[in-house]
Amino acid sequence: MENETGINLRIEVKVNTEGGKQTVQTSFVCDKGKCGKEIEVRSDGKNTTHNVLCPEHGLLTSFPNEAALRKFTVDAANKILSAHGHDLITEKTSYTAIDDNPDPNSVN
Ligand SMILES: [Zn+2]
Repeated sequence: MENETGINLRIEVKVNTEGGKQTVQTSFVCDKGKCGKEIEVRSDGKNTTHNVLCPEHGLLTSFPNEAALRKFTVDAANKILSAHGHDLITEKTSYTAIDDNPDPNSVN
């Protein structure tokens, strides 16, 4: 499942309901010109700016802190989940978000 978010990002949502417990996995890819590359999130910590970058197109958007990124992710994922009749992400639902990438030197 995927959806456009309106800011050059496309969110992909995977739902796993094995064992009667729903887990949700989310990831973002660049949607600039149908780019489709996996984005990176860079930050210096929880309460600092989280920059969303495409390896091809550079900075796509940024969030003031981790909470803002999380809210954006959950809102976007829930839109897709409700459209497909799944349980929405709440505080009780476990989900895996895109990883922060605090080490800019770990580029292969
Ligand atoms: Zn791109």
